[in-house]
Amino acid sequence: MFENEFKGKVVVISGGSRGIGFAAVKGFLANGAKVCFLSHYEETGAKALAALKEINPDYEVMTKAIDLCDFKAAQELYKEVVAKWGRIDVLINNAGTDCPTWLTKLKQSEWDAVCNLNQKAVFNMSKYAIDYLKKTKGCIINTASVAGVYGSPTGLPYPASKAAVIAMTKSMAYSFAPNGVRVNCIAPGVVETDMTAGMPDFAKKSVGDTIPMKRFGQPEDIANAMMFLASSAASYVTGACLQVDGGYRPSNLLN
Ligand code: NAD
Repeated sequence: MFENEFKGKVVVISGGSRGIGFAAVKGFLANGAKVCFLSHYEETGAKALAALKEINPDYEVMTKAIDLCDFKAAQELYKEVVAKWGRIDVLINNAGTDCPTWLTKLKQSEWDAVCNLNQKAVFNMSKYAIDYLKKTKGCIINTASVAGVYGSPTGLPYPASKAAVIAMTKSMAYSFAPNGVRVNCIAPGVVETDMTAGMPDFAKKSVGDTIPMKRFGQPEDIANAMMFLASSAASYVTGACLQVDGGYRPSNLLN
């Protein structure tokens, strides 16, 4: 679909060892990019790297496990990527986490854990990438969520932080359009990954039944949208929040 579109391009993806991020890593590599993917733990990164090398030993791919909120770590990472491959064209802020605890039981530490990863890490990783992206007229793609658009019946920090991601995307798009840097986000609906694997079967069925397309999304559905937003086909798209959700609307849940 995007054959050779990303040849010579360098892509950095957080949360790349599994789920949506791993599908994006595979997609960009298959279409010619060099990819640095970030993982929470070194072991999971190494395992994902081995799986990618099995698909194609010639893939130009590296992995790192850093604290995404650490400003020094972000700066070091980008220096290392540029020392290796000379440039950065695409940053995908994809790592994210959920906490479904009911408001009255929610601890401050739970709020911080979700908002730090989902929101502060987007700020930190974008801040130190932007000078490199200005040079390549590159782009940022953030993974938001439909929960950030419509709210969520379970948990407050997740929808709050994802709404912030949408607002940050639109704000960064304004700021950097004059520099030729595009900033967009994707709001996935319900996607079949580790994040949704713990849903009880009855909940999977009742949510699935409310999705007009009658299925959960697959990680590749979201990865394809990421590649579209990173591609030259989206060269006039910035500040967008692209919902990739099979038509999911929470009002359906209330019927
Ligand atoms: P996932 O749980 O499989 O992946 C989450 C990724 O984030 C993993 O790679 C994990 O290693 C990384 N991560 C988690 N905590 C981290 C930390 N503290 N530091 C660094 N990395 C950390 O789930 P996924 O569905 O692939 O999620 C990817 C993105 O998509 C997230 O931002 C998530 O909020 C978003 N999203 C998912 C769904 C869904 O239904 N699965 C829906 C909407 C949005």
